[in-house]
Amino acid sequence: MATLAEAARMDMPAFTRIPHPAPTPPEARRALLADPGFGKVFSDHMVRIVWREGEGWGDAEIGPRGPIMLDPAAAVLHYAQEIFEGLKAYRLADGGTALFRPEANAARFNASARRLAMPELPEALFIGAIRELVAADGEWFPPVDGGSLYLRPFMFASEAFLGVRPAKEYTFLVIASPAGNYFKSGAPAVSIWVSEDYTRAAPGGTGAAKCGGNYAASLVPQAEAIARGHDQVVFLDAAERRWIEELGGMNVFFAFADGSLMTPPLSGTILPGITRESLLALARDEGLTVREERYGIDQWRGDAASGKLLEAFACGTAAVVTSIGKVASAEGEFTIGSGGPGQLTQRLRQRLVAIQRGEAPDPHGWVVRIG
Ligand SMILES: *Cc1c(COP(=O)(O)O)cnc(C)c1O
Repeated sequence: MATLAEAARMDMPAFTRIPHPAPTPPEARRALLADPGFGKVFSDHMVRIVWREGEGWGDAEIGPRGPIMLDPAAAVLHYAQEIFEGLKAYRLADGGTALFRPEANAARFNASARRLAMPELPEALFIGAIRELVAADGEWFPPVDGGSLYLRPFMFASEAFLGVRPAKEYTFLVIASPAGNYFKSGAPAVSIWVSEDYTRAAPGGTGAAKCGGNYAASLVPQAEAIARGHDQVVFLDAAERRWIEELGGMNVFFAFADGSLMTPPLSGTILPGITRESLLALARDEGLTVREERYGIDQWRGDAASGKLLEAFACGTAAVVTSIGKVASAEGEFTIGSGGPGQLTQRLRQRLVAIQRGEAPDPHGWVVRIG
């Protein structure tokens, strides 16, 4: 039997720490953090762990962030064996730092790995890597209200080989990007375009895996939505082109006049969002009737017109909760409720954000303090 100290060591893998020779000077960092936006400013460090067939996961290392060397034949560049996660570290009122349900991200990362024929990463390494990076780059939290450090763990096939089979070498990296408040003052309602020409995921495909390839396939329909004057694309199911699935990177919810809340079921073609699951739990806590059921585009249009449907919103880690005000397709447009953010949407958003930032009780034990 392992002693307590050994158990603690097993939970906390040892990371080799490589000092940064020239971290960003404080003034330059402050300038970058004044208005970081999303996904364009990066912190000083990154984590790297390499897996090789026969050896398993090698030494975990945290060092200066910078370009990586990749053989031009690296399998990821040809056959897209790549998965990722996205989660935020929050600064608590007492100056500490916390993650929101990181074990759910670790589990989903491994589910994605299995679907893409990649090795699984032990949860302790996944969470340990994030802890190390947040500790090293703790100065990179934006000082603005609602600011967070967005963490991007990802893994790709780094073996140089052009044959088609699962690679024998993978690289796991974690980088961090300070994120401002996605919507500065109260989230506006977005307008979404229903793609009828393109689908995101087919039954038996990779829709439930968080892999880069899904995003590559969503870029043309997303660009079409923008070109038509909308903010986001929403996809229908690939088999019948009728049932609402999700947006390119966010799950979708519908709130009805009878007080119920509905979201499409996880059928294998939808990404199992952690925000989705958390909002379902919060809605149940409130005593709302919660349904995971298929919802057709025609029903959506009809219910919006009759007033049966009051609100719709999209959700995901980056933007948390975003109201859907207007829906457009080749058949025309319709407005949901008043066209602005609905009451339930705003309340659920506020409740979730308050828990994430440690400002409200956390009855489900979702918040994990890491510093
Ligand atoms: C990541 C993602 C989501 C949202 O998941 P969260 O865990 O809530 O951030 C939804 N849809 C897709 C396609 C995604 O990649």
